[in-house]
Amino acid sequence: MSADLIVAEGLRKEYPGRSEGDAPTVALQRFDLKVAEHEVACIVGPSGCGKTTLLNLIAGFEKPSDGVLTMRGEPVAGPSPERSVVFQQPALFPWLTVLENVTLGPRMRGVDKVKLERDAEHVLASVGLTGFKSHFPYQLSGGMRQRVQIARVLVASPDVILMDEPFGSLDAQTRIIMHEVLLRVWAEYKPTIFFITHDVEEALILADQVYVMSRRPGSVKARIQVPFKRPRGYDLIGDPDFAALRASVVAMLREEWESGEIDAVAE
Ligand code: ADP
Ligand code: MG
Repeated sequence: MSADLIVAEGLRKEYPGRSEGDAPTVALQRFDLKVAEHEVACIVGPSGCGKTTLLNLIAGFEKPSDGVLTMRGEPVAGPSPERSVVFQQPALFPWLTVLENVTLGPRMRGVDKVKLERDAEHVLASVGLTGFKSHFPYQLSGGMRQRVQIARVLVASPDVILMDEPFGSLDAQTRIIMHEVLLRVWAEYKPTIFFITHDVEEALILADQVYVMSRRPGSVKARIQVPFKRPRGYDLIGDPDFAALRASVVAMLREEWESGEIDAVAE
């Protein structure tokens, strides 16, 4: 067993009301989490349950209102290059080529140009973008832009990659390809990946463990160890054990949606 890299205990996040007199929003409460080194942890939960809040806390963009959040035993005090974020919409510089976008961060930190370009070519090959290094973002499809974003994160070799519904705006075919890209990248670089999604199938294909969240205020409804062997591919979807696990997670999420609807009717 590898050691726990990220640990949350009793994590709580409350946002102040929008104007004076408005009740605060409790986005997360009593949230416990343990992510081991080199593991892929996926979070699934209904919309608005606090998934992005959790990612922002781990990224160090937000501070907890209460509870403990540590990486290697040290409190997360702010953003760090050890923890890189991949957003749903890749933020690439339109006037820079693929290679320039991928190397920009380390170049600004003064990393040797020759080494950097060699590393960049390697990660571009890993994400399947060999031959596209001189293209500009507008010349790429959505999936390819997302690969550039992943390459840009990889070239900085972070310990943890935080991904907030990174394939949420891609079409179904492209998502499947991106899952394969990510599985391949994980097998090669073995980063710890913290991946948020509302797609149960995506979570079960990618993850070692899946956290199912309750509706807001988000807490852990279930923690599931995903039993399927790696390397994984899309044939997994035809496996009856996969279908059964998927159905049970969907049923858990449905309980959350439906209890929310009943509340909405009662209000
Ligand atoms: P998810 O990513 O699961 O959809 P979020 O973490 O974005 O959920 O949001 C959880 C709850 O916290 C929502 O009710 C949202 O409106 C609220 N929220 C998120 N960010 C802020 C903020 N900066 N200020 C106030 N409320 C916020
Ligand atoms: Mg979100």
